[in-house]
Amino acid sequence: MRLVVLGKQGAGKGTQCARLSERFGVPHVSTGDMFRAVAKSDTELGKLVREKMAEGELIGDDLVLAIVNERLGQDDARRGFVLDGFPRNVAQAEALASMLSPLELDGVLDLEVPSVVVVERLAARRVCTNCGAIYSLSQPPKQDWICDVCGGSVIQREDDTEEAIRRRLELYERETAPLIEWYSVRGKLFSVDGVGDPGEVELNVIDALRKNIPTLFSDVQ
Ligand code: AMP
Repeated sequence: MRLVVLGKQGAGKGTQCARLSERFGVPHVSTGDMFRAVAKSDTELGKLVREKMAEGELIGDDLVLAIVNERLGQDDARRGFVLDGFPRNVAQAEALASMLSPLELDGVLDLEVPSVVVVERLAARRVCTNCGAIYSLSQPPKQDWICDVCGGSVIQREDDTEEAIRRRLELYERETAPLIEWYSVRGKLFSVDGVGDPGEVELNVIDALRKNIPTLFSDVQ
């Protein structure tokens, strides 16, 4: 499976990609998670990435492409991957196509959620600082903000503030939304309604995958 998942911040990409990764046994490659790891390091690069992320700005394409190229070259990505948060603009999509060549993406899934809903979700979102597991004020971990998966601390992301959310949605419209048309004319795009609880959306996602990439289901139920 070589799949890209598109959608606004807060559309549920992280949650759905984690589920797809488990179901299909391919790595969940999230550039946001990779940059959050870089941001923890006490280096000049760590500082630069930390500042950009906190403001809701995008990281430069050169660095993004280097990190993705390295990740997709690792052994576990040979059977495929689910890409979350990448590509974020047309230049990155073009670079991904050359990185994969002569192989191609199986498809691009667009998780559709209206902006008012994502703003609400982002304000309520909480994440594990250690493994990136996603929670919300309405679906917290079992124990007082301790991650159910790894025991790490669950906090609000630094870029889930009102100001950074506004900036990220602006950048989504300007940089990322054009990818919907870009992948659509290349016959790769299919859309799924991302409103609803994660279990419901997952059923819609699986349904859409069955229709659009039936080969994925030859050995998975
Ligand atoms: P995300 O977790 O996907 O919302 O990403 C969090 C932040 O990481 C973004 O606001 C950007 O600062 C940075 N980032 C993640 N992916 C990319 C990308 N493909 N291109 C540029 N910046 C990115």
